[in-house]
Amino acid sequence: MSNHRADVYGLSEAELAEVCLDAGLPAFRARQVFEWAQGRAVTEWAEMKNIGAADRDALAARLALKPPEPVRESAAPDGTRKFLFRLEDGETIETVLMDYHKDRSRSRATVCLSVQAGCAVGCPFCATGRMGFRRDLSAGEITGQLLALTARMRRLDADFHVSNAVFMGMGEPFYNMTPFLKAARLLNEARGQNIGMRRMTVSTSGVVPGILRLAAENTQIGLAVSLHAGTDELRDKIVPLNRKYPLAALMAACGEYVRLTGRRVTFEIALTRENTTETQARAVAALLRGMPAHVNLIPINAVAGSTAERPSPAKAAAFRQELARRGLTVTVREEKGGDIEAACGQLQAGF
Ligand code: SF4
Repeated sequence: MSNHRADVYGLSEAELAEVCLDAGLPAFRARQVFEWAQGRAVTEWAEMKNIGAADRDALAARLALKPPEPVRESAAPDGTRKFLFRLEDGETIETVLMDYHKDRSRSRATVCLSVQAGCAVGCPFCATGRMGFRRDLSAGEITGQLLALTARMRRLDADFHVSNAVFMGMGEPFYNMTPFLKAARLLNEARGQNIGMRRMTVSTSGVVPGILRLAAENTQIGLAVSLHAGTDELRDKIVPLNRKYPLAALMAACGEYVRLTGRRVTFEIALTRENTTETQARAVAALLRGMPAHVNLIPINAVAGSTAERPSPAKAAAFRQELARRGLTVTVREEKGGDIEAACGQLQAGF
């Protein structure tokens, strides 16, 4: 029976109000539950101090307050922490905390959220892709990662607060669009975590209908596209989804996102020997010409079983210079968490 109770972490205040109405409880209880669960990240009904025991019991009979259970945690010296969470049905997912340093107070803490257990896209360089697809996560399981992590971190630092959320963990967000969007909106709520939409970024392997939907929703969530190559021939090999949504369609959708949101797009390129040639630099520059774009180069991480090889430092530098010379804004992603396997393409629900 407990399986049929709606997950508190996935409900808006209006949805909670319906539950309260159904339970014969005053409507203001909905706001209180929302503030406790989404805003203060409590994980137990008993922590909701301004709700009497009888009302808490009535709510608990209708609603599940079941945060993802942290079963393992590892911390790297650079502040990166990786959490393995177990979901109600036993599936495990990973969530990563980055850019967090207690001595820098709470000004910045970025959480990388998973949206699916496993992933169906199967990018060859990605550990998650090699797991295969397990299942979609619900909105409550997506917000729940951030809330459970916050509850855990507040035991170490009472002021802990997440400032930025990136949907870049396990899974393809645009293959789980509705729960992803709902989770983003819940995290954005002023009475919830109050994370600005402009402080959220969603990363896609290039699902064109998803990019168009995000553009149409005009949420101001940032868009990052895993580009990885400037030609269809090479991108077909690195991102299998390119065969379904080739570069011309991908670029047209990104153009639509820019037109409707006024935001620039981040294009990610994981540096390998194959995609750092001068031909590829020229092709990438031609693709992005005239588009408000930012290119983020990612030093590829060693994943067991991956066939991609890193370019030499000189080749990587030459590639970067060539893109910049052609007028693109280029940054190199800082390598964080590599030693605990929490970097992009390394999440695989095991430590
Ligand atoms: S890189 Fe992203 S889209 Fe590709 S297999 Fe990994 S999780 Fe899926």
